[in-house]
Amino acid sequence: MYNYKTLHKLINNGLCYAYMDINNSTISLDIDTRKYYDNNSGFHYIEFSENVIQFPLGENLFNFLSLPDETLCFLQNLSGENSGQWDGLHENDEEQEYLASLECIYLYILYYSFCRYTLSLPYRTSLINIKKEFDFALNFCCNTSFLPELSALSALEKYYIYNELYNDNYLTNIKKFERNGFVFLGSNTPVHELNMLERMDCSNEKYRHYNGQEPIIDKPALSPKVISELKKLNVSTTVRYQYDNLHGYLMEELYALIQLNVQVKKCGRCHKYFIPKGKYATEYCDRVLPGEKFSCKKLAAKQTRKAKVDSTPILQEYQRAYKRMYARVTAKKISQKDFKEWSDNASHERDRIIATYGSTPSIDIIASFKNYLGNR
Ligand SMILES: [Zn+2]
Repeated sequence: MYNYKTLHKLINNGLCYAYMDINNSTISLDIDTRKYYDNNSGFHYIEFSENVIQFPLGENLFNFLSLPDETLCFLQNLSGENSGQWDGLHENDEEQEYLASLECIYLYILYYSFCRYTLSLPYRTSLINIKKEFDFALNFCCNTSFLPELSALSALEKYYIYNELYNDNYLTNIKKFERNGFVFLGSNTPVHELNMLERMDCSNEKYRHYNGQEPIIDKPALSPKVISELKKLNVSTTVRYQYDNLHGYLMEELYALIQLNVQVKKCGRCHKYFIPKGKYATEYCDRVLPGEKFSCKKLAAKQTRKAKVDSTPILQEYQRAYKRMYARVTAKKISQKDFKEWSDNASHERDRIIATYGSTPSIDIIASFKNYLGNR
């Protein structure tokens, strides 16, 4: 569960900013923040962008898609009842904790903003319909087992087809997607000296009579000290985005997954989508569910091991029969060919019995297997 006290930072000044780092497959949420300092001539501040929280790409989309319809209905009603009431403060901890527990950051930041009403919209943009549409689009493009006949195509190629076929799925169709991104230049090392420089605009005494008819093209005056400080700047460029609705955020995430040709699977244990990592095929995710000590993958492996241990009596009976038959073939009482035929059949039967025993263990199954093998 997300820590709602951390999340609280995000909602202090209206809607925060999101940006996607496609190279590192992360989504960050930032706020603009001010740092005050005293340089002996009075208080000054510098504005910079503060990263509050980071998520792996896909996480918030997958978490939203795993929310039950009842939860979405409840949230939709809650947003409707309280829409227009947000005054920049969170109402109470309990409600905030509940919204954080849904583990979809978009629901949280939209609820605590002036866009809260967009979570209460009925009909086509209701939360249930948004979930239905994104679930379908994600499966169509990124889940090989959903449309095995198109498994040779990349996610982007499948999305191209999707866009042609599903023109009325306007929340997930790229042709209808109005991107709300803007380039943002930031420095992670705020340089005080930059703020000390005289602005080359009408706020400067020198341009008091400036009427905006021409551009200002005077060079700035830079002292050696200022220049050496400015060299410490570490500027990065990002594209920030902000939406007043849920599907805008979900679309950024879905589209990034498609562009990266990410393949998703639904976890066999917690039934959430996940991105399988590593070269081994797995049907389980690495999440640790609330109340569990281990991840789904670990718990599933434990269960498989346990199932193997439980099948020990069957394996023991098989071993006994195998030794007996092997003794016969070495004593030339039966032919190699007969032994091979016996072991093929017996091992096949053994695996069949283990599978039956695994789902419904009983003494009768062991007894009938002993009988089959001719064990006493
Ligand atoms: Zn799982």
